[in-house]
Amino acid sequence: MSIVDLRSDTVTQPSAAMREAMMAAPLGDDVFGDDPSVNTLQAELAERLGFEAALFMPTGTQSNLCALMSHCQRGDEYLVGQYAHTYRWEGGGAAVLGSIQPQPIAHAPDGSLPLDEIEAQIKPDDAHFARTRLLALENTIGGKVLPMGYLAAASALAQRRGLARHLDGARLFNAAVAVAQRGEAADAHAAARAICGHFDSVSVCFSKGLGAPVGSVLCGSREFITRAHRWRKMTGGGLRQAGLLAAAARYALHHHVERLAQDHALAQRLADGLAAVPGLAVEAPQTNIVFADVSAPGKAQGLLPFLKSRGVLATGLYRLRFVTHLDVDAAGVDRAIAATREYFAA
Ligand SMILES: *Cc1c(COP(=O)(O)O)cnc(C)c1O
Repeated sequence: MSIVDLRSDTVTQPSAAMREAMMAAPLGDDVFGDDPSVNTLQAELAERLGFEAALFMPTGTQSNLCALMSHCQRGDEYLVGQYAHTYRWEGGGAAVLGSIQPQPIAHAPDGSLPLDEIEAQIKPDDAHFARTRLLALENTIGGKVLPMGYLAAASALAQRRGLARHLDGARLFNAAVAVAQRGEAADAHAAARAICGHFDSVSVCFSKGLGAPVGSVLCGSREFITRAHRWRKMTGGGLRQAGLLAAAARYALHHHVERLAQDHALAQRLADGLAAVPGLAVEAPQTNIVFADVSAPGKAQGLLPFLKSRGVLATGLYRLRFVTHLDVDAAGVDRAIAATREYFAA
């Protein structure tokens, strides 16, 4: 039985063409700044997203950590969503390693952090308080696309109050594809650039829906990236012949951005199928992540093990979560729907 793995868009395998690009990549020692494939990826992504410089990172977690540590000093504070990855899913690294205090803010239903709440949480200049230095947003956040108007307003507020602005854009290109599809930008690349225009730094994951095996890239000003480079070395992220990995990321940038629309369409197909199952409440997906809650009494516990017995993998820490990606097709999605229907019919 083949497995339909909907646990995450991180489970993708590099395609044959991506592996070829990796094998053909010219390599050097990136700690000396000598790896041409890393340098090309960094220059190309920075240029595309409208930043001066970029830095290849082993993981998105390290990329966000180095970004926060480059924006903030010990005793500073950052404003962040209660369910943001940087706050909730990165082991508390900003606090543990950066001595940066998080100030979490509850999300509005659309995933945004309400502007009045941001404003209210900015601390006065008073020795009792940590210094509020940074606003960190995430897009997509829980699969939702932050509205362009919201980004503009949040960014203006941050600038008015002297806060730096960081975007955890692990799924930046999912957001960009959705924005373009709504007609708010000419294409996904224009949308990505427009989103990034509201931030001082952006971290992008290539190991999610873009389908590379490893890697994130942090973008920002030249001066910011110089600081981040020191933190990357200190946190053990200086890689040597990293061009093997950067070539995969560059291949993804060239070949796997527009196709994210297919993942979004499959998520919609999955949501439509699941919504027809009595006992499940399904949230309409905006990109490649489908959330659902079991409403039928006594049925929540057994669902994931049952799906697994039918070769369908999903997760359910807070809510049921199904993620589509380039190694899932319509037949796989239909199997997930059929197995779920079978479980609730029993
Ligand atoms: C996956 C992810 C990251 C980083 O994850 P790594 O596994 O460390 O690469 C950061 N932010 C968000 C929103 C993510 O989904």
